[in-house]
Amino acid sequence: MITKQNVLELDNNDPIGFARDRFYIPSGKVYLDGNSLGLMSHDTHARVAEVTNRQWGKDAITSWNKHNWIGLPQRVGEKIAPLVGAAPGQVICCDSISVNLFKALAASLTLTQSAQPQKNQVLSTPDNFPTDLYMVQGLQQLLGQQRCELVLAEESQLADAITDTTAVVLVTEVNFRTGRRLDVETLIAKAHAAGAMVIVDLAHSAGVLPVDLDAWQADFAVGCTYKYLNGGPGAPAFIYAAERHHAKLQQPLVGWMGHANPFEFAPDYSPAPGISQFLGGTPPVLSMSAVDAALDAFKGVNLGQLRFKSMQLSELFHDLVVQFELTSELTLIAPEDPNQRGSQLSYESEHAYGICQALIERYVVADFRSPNYLRVGFAPLYNSFHDVYLAVQALADVIESKAHLSERWQQRNAVT
Ligand SMILES: *Cc1c(COP(=O)(O)O)cnc(C)c1O
Repeated sequence: MITKQNVLELDNNDPIGFARDRFYIPSGKVYLDGNSLGLMSHDTHARVAEVTNRQWGKDAITSWNKHNWIGLPQRVGEKIAPLVGAAPGQVICCDSISVNLFKALAASLTLTQSAQPQKNQVLSTPDNFPTDLYMVQGLQQLLGQQRCELVLAEESQLADAITDTTAVVLVTEVNFRTGRRLDVETLIAKAHAAGAMVIVDLAHSAGVLPVDLDAWQADFAVGCTYKYLNGGPGAPAFIYAAERHHAKLQQPLVGWMGHANPFEFAPDYSPAPGISQFLGGTPPVLSMSAVDAALDAFKGVNLGQLRFKSMQLSELFHDLVVQFELTSELTLIAPEDPNQRGSQLSYESEHAYGICQALIERYVVADFRSPNYLRVGFAPLYNSFHDVYLAVQALADVIESKAHLSERWQQRNAVT
C-alpha cells in the first residue's frame, strides 16, 4: 500500500528535485504533458525578453554579430550534443523534425546508393510517427520507387526485416503512442552488417533518456526541442550526422546558410564543411534563443539521474493505478518493464477521450491519442512524485464518479 507519506518522502529524497524551481509550473495544475510540450523555464522567459527588448529592440540588425545570432544553430547544436551522446561538430539546430528527416533520408540514400545501387528501400514501422512515414512517401514520389521505396515491418520484427535491398532503416526510439522503447543499438549493428544506414528519431528520447549516438554508431538522427528539451511551442529541431559521413554528405535542401561563404552571395552552391551544410535559410532567432536558454535547465543534472527518476515516476503512477483498482477501465499498453519504456505511460480505454477531458477539468493535464489512448508523460526535470499522486487520485475520482461518460465529450477539440 503506497501512502501519501511514502510519496512525499520520495520528493524529499529526490537528488534532482531542485530543478523543478527552474520552471514556471502552471498554478494549481499537475502537468503530465511534457512529452508533447515541455514547460517554460525562468531562464527561457528572461532570454526571450532580453532578445526582444534589448537585442532586437535596441541593437536591431547589429545583433547578428554583436549577440552572435548568426552562430546560434551551431551553438545550440553543441549544447544538445552531450544530451544525445555526440562529440562536437555533429549536431546542429534547425528546421523541424519533418524537414530534417527529408534531408537525412536523401543524404543517407545517396551515400548508401553510391556504393550499393541495388539498395532502394527505406524500412520503418507502420505505427511510426506519421510525419516520418510521410517524408519517405514524399521522397518516393520525387525520386521514384527505383531509388526510394517505403517498406514497413512491425516494431518487433524490424531488425529481422532488414534485407539486401534495405538502404536505410528509419526508427523512432520511443513509440509516441505506446511509449515502447526499442533497442536501437542492436538494430544499428544489424543494419550495418547488411550495409544499411540508420536514422534515429529522438523526439521522445532527447532530454529524458541517456542516448549514445556515437557509441551506437548511428548514421543520422533527428529530434525536436519542444518536448523534453522545453524549447517552446514550434521551437526548431536538431539533426545529427556522424562525422565519418561528413566528407561525402549531399543533401538536397541546399540553402544559403549552409553555403561555405553565405555573405559572398555567390551564384553557385558550395557546401559549408561539416554539419553546417544541413542549414537552409535564416535561423528563427527568437525561438532558437529560447531553446538555448531552456537547455540551461539541465545544468547539474545528469542523464542517469533523469532516467532513474523518470522510471520511478512512471512506476509509481502505474502502481497507484493498480492500487486504486482502475485497471478494469484502463489497460496498460506500454511495456510493464520500465526499462522498455520511454518516459510515458499509455492506457487504452473505450472512454480515453472523456477520461482525458475530465482529468483536465480536475487540473490534471494529460493527452489523448487516436483511436483510444490516454497518454501520461513524465518530465523528471520538473514533475514531482506528489504530482503523480494527485493525478492518480483525480483519475480515480473521474472513474468512480463516471465523469468521463458525460455527453460533453462526444465532440473532440481540434488539438487533442
Ligand atoms: C513529435 C514528433 C515529431 C514532430 O515532428 P515536427 O516536424 O517537429 O512537427 C516527429 N516524430 C516523432 C516521433 C515525434 O514524436
